[in-house]
Amino acid sequence: MALCFATAALLKGSMNVIPPTSPPIRAAEPTARPAPVPDRSTALLRRLWRDEARRHRGRIVSVIGLTVLMALLTGLYPLVIQRALDMFAAHDPRILYQVPALVLLITTAKALSQYGQTVAVQNLVLIVIRGLQGTMFAHLVHTDISRIEREAPAQLSARFTTDAVSIREAMIRAVNALGDVVTVAGLVVSMFYMDWELSLIAAVLYPVAAIPIQRLGKKVRRASGGMQERMGETSALLTESFSQARTVRVYRLERNEAARVAHTLDLLHQALLRIARGRARVDPVLEVLGGAAVAAVLGFAGWRAALGGATLGDFSGFVAALLLASRPLRALGSLNAALQEGLAGLERIFAIIDEPPEITEAAQARALPPGEGHLRFDAASFVYPDGRVGLNGLTFEARPGLTVALVGPSGAGKSTALSLIPRLHDVSGGRILLDGVDLRALRLSDLRDAIAYVSQDTLLFDLTVIENIRIGRPSATEAEIRAAARAAAAEGFIDALPEGFGTRVGPGGQRLSGGQRQRVALARALLRDPRVLLLDEATSALDSESEALVQDALASLRKGRTTIVVAHRLSTVRSADLVVAMADGQGVECGTHAELMEADGLYARMVRTQAFSNAP
Ligand code: ATP
Repeated sequence: MALCFATAALLKGSMNVIPPTSPPIRAAEPTARPAPVPDRSTALLRRLWRDEARRHRGRIVSVIGLTVLMALLTGLYPLVIQRALDMFAAHDPRILYQVPALVLLITTAKALSQYGQTVAVQNLVLIVIRGLQGTMFAHLVHTDISRIEREAPAQLSARFTTDAVSIREAMIRAVNALGDVVTVAGLVVSMFYMDWELSLIAAVLYPVAAIPIQRLGKKVRRASGGMQERMGETSALLTESFSQARTVRVYRLERNEAARVAHTLDLLHQALLRIARGRARVDPVLEVLGGAAVAAVLGFAGWRAALGGATLGDFSGFVAALLLASRPLRALGSLNAALQEGLAGLERIFAIIDEPPEITEAAQARALPPGEGHLRFDAASFVYPDGRVGLNGLTFEARPGLTVALVGPSGAGKSTALSLIPRLHDVSGGRILLDGVDLRALRLSDLRDAIAYVSQDTLLFDLTVIENIRIGRPSATEAEIRAAARAAAAEGFIDALPEGFGTRVGPGGQRLSGGQRQRVALARALLRDPRVLLLDEATSALDSESEALVQDALASLRKGRTTIVVAHRLSTVRSADLVVAMADGQGVECGTHAELMEADGLYARMVRTQAFSNAP
């Protein structure tokens, strides 16, 4: 027999020991967080190097080699022009074969190195991003359920898409900037070689550009943060709107939705415009400063030519170098803005990766001892992160093999109690024991392997039927899967599907009916053969034929294991070995259906007011 609060004294004492406002016990603050570094950008780049880039040293070396080679080849262009014009002025006949050959050689070499460099850069950048995405997902797939539920799914996915894009762009720009630096350096050497006086004038004017450019970069970084947030919000809203398409039509919410989306799109538009404005200012600033440099050089050169100075070749070569340098210089000027956008994305990704999960395995976690699924709630309390009380000192005992039905009005804490068993949340007061061991002292994998969860509004994964069932026990053979499907009254309909067990069920399992999805989920739970079965009963009934099949399958699933069911049907409650009636996060009554009817309290009132469904 399953026990509840044993005695009245225990009931009074233990069920109220935790004040409703007691804060949740949190895992110790992380000690391994990176120490704050004065310059955030440097810290982020160091982190990127340490976590991801370092592993790809070979690729990095080849990218650098190809980039430098390409840049040096560009640096040779003005020298060729200078030589050609000098030969031209001197009527040198070698110009006919020497110069064209040289031009062909240099351009071909540059074209080849350019191709190799582009592919190598993309390869490196994509592999680093892939690594970041993998690390972030690995973190999110293990982290607390409350962390995942804090944000809309689309907002989380935006971290993998829009943030990744801005990081990718920034990294490509950063690598190419290396090429630009070498190109400019090569051109500067050419320029000094050809005319040091003119070079000095140019050299003084260009760095002046650095100051406004840096200011603009900071602005863009701030704007980028806002833009990414808005992107996430927009996709979250769109996803919600499309997934509620039926409600929207039936309740004629088209206008509301259009207005809601229009508002978010406006915000996104403004955020994008802010970035565009920041970016747009960079080029004109560079244009003016570049123009000033060219004008000064040309003025000085003209003045000197009047006095009878350098050759035509020198002058043309110099101007060519100056013009060639303006593209990479401009790219370097706008690099900061792009870099800041990427850093903003990187910061958000690392922030997610660094969030420490609260539900962790104890250092000395124990294996689950042999047992038959003896589950005990001992004054268990739970407060949600927003301060709302989910459970407030719940005590009951589920003896092996028996079924406990949790009943109570909406918001009583039934689902919260269920979620504490597989440690989706940790109790903030009291404890829960499985076969005599506090859940928090057990190895998480052992605990969860011992549990199956069936919600009757089941969603399946977009996999084949057999893969969906195999989730219950990955090592199961095909024969075992078939047997589980048979016991769940699912074999017949699965065999009738176009590709039998190999049929894909579509996103969420939408290619199956509600009853079929439930039976697949039951087969999965049967295959797991858990010690403890958690059942969240659907509030809505299926058509009576499917319902009967599902109920039969459920009955066979419950046999021989401890079951905790959030019950909405009178038949389920009646067949339970123990009924725990809950209100405000506490157990207020417990006993069998007959005992509680006799006691004439909350439960009897619920039965009388038909709070339960009469479906079988
Ligand atoms: P129902 O029968 O309607 O599903 P329930 O008995 O299962 O209700 P719970 O879902 O456990 O009730 O909720 C218990 C309390 O915790 C409620 O007051 C609810 O508002 C609150 N609560 C539930 N989920 C969250 C959450 N994610 N964040 C904050 N508070 C929550």
